[in-house]
Formats: sequence, C-alpha cells, structure tokens
Amino acid sequence: MDRAEKIDSIMKRRGFLWRSSEIYGGISGFYDYGHIGTLIKRKFENLWRHFFLGLNPMFFEISPSTIMPEEVFKASGHLEHFTDPIVRCKKCDFVERADQILENILHEKFEGLSKEELNEIIKKHKIRCPKCGGELEEVSEMNLMFPIEIGPFKKVRGYLRPETAQGAYVNFTKEFNALRKRLPIGLAVIGKAFRNEISPRGGVYRLREFTQAELQIFFDPDEINDHEDWESVKDLNMIVLLAGSEDAKEVSCEEMVEDIRLPKFYVYYMASVYKFYTEVLGYPKDSVRFRELSEDEKSFYNKLHWDLEVKLETLGGFKELCGVHYRYDHDLSSHEKMSGESQKVFLNEKKFIPHVIEISFGIDRNIYALIDFFYDERDGKSVLKLPFKVSPFDCAVFPLVKRDGLDERAIEIYKNLSGHFDCYYDDSGSIGRRYARQDEIGTPICITVDYDTLKDNTVTLRDRDTANQIRVKIGDLSATISKIIQRGKF
Ligand code: ATP
Repeated sequence: MDRAEKIDSIMKRRGFLWRSSEIYGGISGFYDYGHIGTLIKRKFENLWRHFFLGLNPMFFEISPSTIMPEEVFKASGHLEHFTDPIVRCKKCDFVERADQILENILHEKFEGLSKEELNEIIKKHKIRCPKCGGELEEVSEMNLMFPIEIGPFKKVRGYLRPETAQGAYVNFTKEFNALRKRLPIGLAVIGKAFRNEISPRGGVYRLREFTQAELQIFFDPDEINDHEDWESVKDLNMIVLLAGSEDAKEVSCEEMVEDIRLPKFYVYYMASVYKFYTEVLGYPKDSVRFRELSEDEKSFYNKLHWDLEVKLETLGGFKELCGVHYRYDHDLSSHEKMSGESQKVFLNEKKFIPHVIEISFGIDRNIYALIDFFYDERDGKSVLKLPFKVSPFDCAVFPLVKRDGLDERAIEIYKNLSGHFDCYYDDSGSIGRRYARQDEIGTPICITVDYDTLKDNTVTLRDRDTANQIRVKIGDLSATISKIIQRGKF
C-alpha cells in the first residue's frame, strides 16, 4: 500500500471519515465523519475559535442560517459569477471542469480563463475526451450553487449558502449596533457551505458539502495602513510566492508592506494565519507558504487574495487550505443597493460603508491535511503524530491484564481522568496491540496500570512519538498530562 492508501485505510477502519451513504454507493463530494473524525473536527474548530476570536475582544461568533433567499446571492454576485467552466464529451457523456481537463493534459494552470479562451485552447491543442477519445462539446458555464424551493405551493427560491460569509454581511448592521457601534468588529461563522462542484476529487479536499470557518473583519478603510498590534508581527518571516513568480521567498511582514506594498491591516491577518499554521498547529515553516493569486485566479469579489498553502505528499505538492481576502466594500455595498437598507455607519466623524478582510478556512481540507502531513511509521507500524491539541483523545488508560484487580484500578483512574481530559479506555487484546491502535489514531499518551501500581500507586506513561515510557504517581497524573498536552511534547 502507498501512503495515500494506508491513510485511507486508517480513516475507514478507525472511525475517521468516509463516503456518505456508502451502503448505497454514496454520491461524490459527500462525506460522513465517524467518532474519531468528529472528535478531531471539534478540536480543530475549538482551536480555531480560541485563536482567531482571541485576536481582538470585538471578534465574536454568530450562527446564521444555511439557507438564504435568492436576493442575497443576486446582491453578492454569486448568481452571476459563481460559475466554473464545464465541458462534456459528445460520445460518452463524461463531464469535467474545462480548465481541469486542460491542466491534466497540458500540465499548466488554466484556472480563471473565460469559456472563449478555454474553447480556443481546446481547439488549438485538439483536446479530446480523456476517457473515450470522443469529441468535446463547447465549454459552457455552470453555477455552483444548490437552488432549493422553499415552502408549499407558492414556492420561494432560495439557495444553500456557498460560503458562510454572506450570513455575516446580512447581519452586519444588527451586530454593529449590538456591539455599541465600534470598529473593527469581527463576525465569525463556523458551519456548512455547499457547492455543486463539477468533479469532486481528492477525498475531502473538494466536497459538495463542507464546513468552513470564516472570519469577516469589518473596519474603517482610512485605517487600513495600520494595525494596533503591528509590532507583534512586523519581524515575522513568512514564505511567499508572488503571482507570476516560480520561486517562493522568505520575507518579513515589514517587507510585505514596504516592498510588496500590501496594507498593514491586511498583512497583520496574513501573519495571524501563518502563526496559526506554524505555531499553533506546528507545521514546519518550509511546508507552509502564502501564494498571491493572479488577476485571473482571484475570486470575483476580492481586491487582494492570498492563499495559504501546505505541502501535502498524497495530494502532490502545495495545496490551498485557507484564503485571506480583501473584499473591499463589495458585499455591504451590494446588499445596501439590493435591500434598500443602509449599511453605512457613522463613526470617526464620517459616514461610510466599512471594508472587510476575510479569513476563510475549509475545515475538512485542514483535517485531511493534518492527517496526511503528520502520518508517520515506526517499525513498519502507523503512527499519526497529530499536534496534541487536535488528537482525538488526550490519553488512553489500559490495565496490563484484565484480572487481579488491575482492571478495577484502571477503570477508577479512567473515570477520574475523563472528567478533565478526552480519555479512552481499552482492555481488549495484547498491550502491544492496544498501543498500536492508539498510535494509529494519534493518542499522545497511553497510561498502563500494572502489578507495580497495586504496590506503589504509580502507572506508566508512554509517549506516542518515541514509545518511551516514564513512571508517574497516580496523584500527579492529572498535572503531568495537562503539562504534556499544553507543551505539545511528551
Ligand atoms: P478552490 O480554488 O480550491 O476551489 P476557492 O478558492 O474557491 O477554493 P474559497 O471560495 O476561497 O475557495 O473558499 C474558502 C475556503 O473554503 C478554501 O480555502 C477551502 O479551504 C475551502 N473550500 C472551498 N471549496 C471547497 C470544497 N469544494 N471542498 C472543501 N473545502 C472547500
């Protein structure tokens, strides 16, 4: 088995995630999380919450509806512009994104080209169906939103939201008032988004139903060239790849402002995202970079658009996990026009529509990335070296054998610990097997109750990453586990 197959096998066997409704064959682009996957997802979301909401006391989470009326997406531009170029084979009906077919055959990027440009390239290179060699139809545009009919008889047209962001925009004025009319404010949403992707692939990398964690930061555009916490990031070095360049380079945030001419307020949030990946999640610096999107590639609503990418072995290189977008006043202005409700604020002695910087994470992609990146092997066995803070369990408790009172003692310890930690209990199979099972799902600490425990009230603690063991007094157990989890290192 290669790395991707091994990871896939663990995900299916051990309760991470798999194709939804698999007993009926499933539909591409829909996945279900099992019990381990759900624990990791919840931990990742909580880490995200604590980190990004912690950036400013005026950043909060809201929970808007996933179904929104058509007007929202007319205003936002999604109805007109949220499309991908699609092409179909005249002979076998095979359907694919036109830019993707070209990319697979010509090994270049064609994202963002118009359907006319794509048609020309298809003609020039005499591209045919990659499945049957048949002739391709002309390229057309397909809107990626899922329309739905709401209510009985006189139906109202709505859409499953393709991004959580619109939920923050339509609630902006209410939150601005509730938050006592100050800026900047941040409205975060962690929730489902839906896109009818033409060809979902790469497991959870491209889904039709997925979870986003997005933060919309509303600010006064006259203050874009400063950030109150600038000093804390100005010397941080990040690896960046400029649009049109082949080589990434390391630059400080100060240089991003001075040389690349990005506004400080924007760079501050790029730096925060970079820190989340390198400091909180612990990705090594050389595996993380920011890529500037070209004019063709940028989403239609963005004035500045940089993607954070992580190098992922099973997906063949650097892949986008998060975007930092300067959406200008695009959304609020459009909602003002469409709804007739003013989105202006009166602040700093002027009336204006706030601008928005958006931090946009795909949670599912990020979880897959963690599993792919931190998958490792020791003596031919799988060890998932996840950062401790996103490991499904903090610790697992085992009795060495299931007799002589060891099991009762182990259960007692498990019960005490499970009030404070995500804790797992296992008494089946050999101790070696139990260690291997925990290594495979990424549990950082295994606690074993053996015959010495009955004599001296100590247990062994085993480190997932080295298999080294130490002996700890039961009275010190909670404090020791807390320290290890906090430190992120055994
Ligand atoms: P891509 O270029 O991969 O289609 P995008 O640039 O359209 O993504 P955005 O619209 O900026 O993505 O969405 C923000 C984030 O949501 C992305 O960085 C990604 O992590 C996640 N995301 C977007 N589309 C999907 C999808 N189909 N499946 C899973 N996650 C997604």
